[in-house]
Amino acid sequence: MDSNKQMAELLFPDITKTPEEYEKEYPPRSLEEGAVVTRFAPSPTGFLHFGGLFAAFAEKAAAKSTGGVFYLRIEDTDKKREIENGVGLIVKGLSDFGIEPDEGVVSENEEKGAYGPYTQSKRTHIYQAFVKRLTEQGLAYPCFMTEDELNVIRAEQESKKMLPGVYGAFAKYRDITPDKAKELIDGGAEYVVRLKSPGNAKNRVKFTDVIKGEIEMPENFLDVVLLKKDGTPTYHFAHAVDDHLMRTTHVIRGDEWISSVPIHLQLFRVCGFKPVKYAHISPIMKEENGGKRKISKRKDPEAAVSFYREKGYPTGAVWEYLMTLANSNYEDWRLANKNADINDFKFSLKKMSKAGALFDFAKLNDVSKNYISTLSAEEVYDAVTDWARENNERLYKLLADDEEYAKSVFAIERGNAKPRKDIASWSDVEDYVAYFYSELWDRKRDFADNLSNADMAEILETYKTIYDGAATAEEWFPQVRDMAADLGYAKTPKEYKKNPDDYRGHVGDVAGVIRAAVTGRRNTPDLYEIMQVLGCDEVIGRIDEAIDILKTLA
Ligand code: GLU
Repeated sequence: MDSNKQMAELLFPDITKTPEEYEKEYPPRSLEEGAVVTRFAPSPTGFLHFGGLFAAFAEKAAAKSTGGVFYLRIEDTDKKREIENGVGLIVKGLSDFGIEPDEGVVSENEEKGAYGPYTQSKRTHIYQAFVKRLTEQGLAYPCFMTEDELNVIRAEQESKKMLPGVYGAFAKYRDITPDKAKELIDGGAEYVVRLKSPGNAKNRVKFTDVIKGEIEMPENFLDVVLLKKDGTPTYHFAHAVDDHLMRTTHVIRGDEWISSVPIHLQLFRVCGFKPVKYAHISPIMKEENGGKRKISKRKDPEAAVSFYREKGYPTGAVWEYLMTLANSNYEDWRLANKNADINDFKFSLKKMSKAGALFDFAKLNDVSKNYISTLSAEEVYDAVTDWARENNERLYKLLADDEEYAKSVFAIERGNAKPRKDIASWSDVEDYVAYFYSELWDRKRDFADNLSNADMAEILETYKTIYDGAATAEEWFPQVRDMAADLGYAKTPKEYKKNPDDYRGHVGDVAGVIRAAVTGRRNTPDLYEIMQVLGCDEVIGRIDEAIDILKTLA
């Protein structure tokens, strides 16, 4: 037997299935021309973060917009860093934002799809079959270097300003014979399996990253680890095998992996795989003190996806915002297609930011306000009650106690051509609806300060005499205008501006007094609609109360 074969048998006596058999088991997918296969491949080592959600969103969008497949693969080769229910948290984290994989891991212990298992810890035999083949070809070898030995070469490389790693003369076991390996293994020595890299630092590799464009780097010449001491694969090797066998077309991932691409391309080559296309996403940035920095789990609450749930940003709004971050032409598209489904937008990986999209709260809130303004009163009611059930018990009770009343509150200035944009997230709702509920309203009146208390009391006293709960929207304002004129206020602000000395104020000031009396606020949605929802008795009661307040102040 040739010595490479002998080595392969020594290292993998139980591996009998061949790479060819796996190739057959996981054949190329039959998809339309141009269909893209993407994956989200997190390690179950912590909570889903905004950057992860953003990547998954882009991966899903890339697949969806081409009629392809998006799957979820769990990269659990580092058992030490795994957290309890890590997979469940990822699946839920994604599904909370409506990102459901077409294939792959769908719950803590369920998978679907023909290219599985989609959990790396269940694929050890597959990786080993490929490493066995590389060993047979003289492209992999067992390395028995101890931690101490690795530290010694690291120190030497540092002091001589050489590149770190196991290569060339530092690769002590590169040419180990099967007999020597057997002797060491029989003696209980531990080993990893390394690539016998065919690369040379003088050569350059070129590739075109879908987002970043042309990239050129030195070829890999390190004998990187393929299998760790426990026989499980490294990230690099599992990436090559999995993305090949799962027939991924586009590996979309964080750009911290860019520097590893030469290793990955070499692994694809030695294994005989067609290389995937890479699209490396730049981290999301924040502006700070005139500069930019990466969004940080430590400093920025919005870096945790739980933030969006707790604040009550609806899924649709988060999608809108993620798409705005992903493709800068999305905003114009949205303006031109106000009510279109987000999936009608032609998402493009190429248009993702090379430098890193900028997270901006004001923008998030604007996008969300816009989105919420397109919802019907029923949709708002359902979403707010859902949110409040977990996050605001008092509000939940009020909304649930009188569904019809709550819906009439949410219907104010909604469903028309120019709906109001007051609500950015469901946590704004308690304040937004406060004056509709005696339990929430502090009854304070924020009167403007350009009229005297006596003048305001007079306006309210007079308004009580003309207030007609049955007036239509068209009738209401002219009534206020006439009353204003009777009291010596200009009928329009324009008229007032022309001859300010002729008037006590204008109709806007008069309406403002009524508004403050009825709602406590200077700014509200349409006052007529508000009064219709409150009902005649309540409106009169509030006006009386406001008159009392003004009189005690006087
Ligand atoms: N498990 C890797 C990580 O969480 C995945 C990177 C990739 O998408 O290939 O960083």
